[in-house]
Amino acid sequence: MSGLAENLARLEEAIASACRAAGRSRGEVDLMAVSKTYPAATIAEAEALGLTLFGENRVQEFAAKVSEIDPLRLRAERPLRAHLIGHLQSNKAQRAVELFDGIDSLDSLRLAERLNEAAGRLGKRLPVLIEVKLSPEETKAGLEPESAEAAALLERLPELEHLDARGLMTIAPWGVAEPVTRACFRALRGWRERWAAAYPRLALEVLSMGMSGDFALAIDEGATRIRVGTALFGKRSPYTGTA
Ligand SMILES: *Cc1c(COP(=O)(O)O)cnc(C)c1O
Repeated sequence: MSGLAENLARLEEAIASACRAAGRSRGEVDLMAVSKTYPAATIAEAEALGLTLFGENRVQEFAAKVSEIDPLRLRAERPLRAHLIGHLQSNKAQRAVELFDGIDSLDSLRLAERLNEAAGRLGKRLPVLIEVKLSPEETKAGLEPESAEAAALLERLPELEHLDARGLMTIAPWGVAEPVTRACFRALRGWRERWAAAYPRLALEVLSMGMSGDFALAIDEGATRIRVGTALFGKRSPYTGTA
């Protein structure tokens, strides 16, 4: 077995065990493979092992891989899907809509309007997740759930006919004790329930939460999608250069 096949087998065991412990079925949790910093060949290798959903952080970076990935996406059976999970600047919205099958890091009304226009021009309906900021770290992206901006976005989303708002995404704070991580995941679920009730025209079903270090906790707290990079592909080398 290749290193990647071994990592995937180990990961699948851990996911199955977390699902069992939480009394959930494995089918309730989608595995997103986070392929940022890894080349298209690695994505193809992971795809051959059965993975179909990939997460990328940067528009530019994925643009360089996309020609090799496209044949796998255009296939009718088991098509590969690539979503953007990193922060997106409004001025790159058009390019992002051209490149990605979904944007999981929607964090402003302005960006939503831009994505909607771009998707309209391409005749697409674009799946999006709202990224929610649940930890006080300055560096964290996402919408503050109690902000006026969040309320404005949620009010407006049902009118943006080229966007398909499917749920919420969050990144837990880094290097904190387990109860803090768990509280963050539980809070995301709470916001989904509150917003699903307050905005019945939105079908907020997806809870994208949990990464290599904390996916078991996330599954226990109701994650429907986990985003795993390191545990699959190994340690990343740091980014060099610009976005
Ligand atoms: C990099 C990244 C991940 C994956 O993190 P790992 O710890 O490598 O599993 C998940 N989500 C987001 C938003 C990321 O940027």
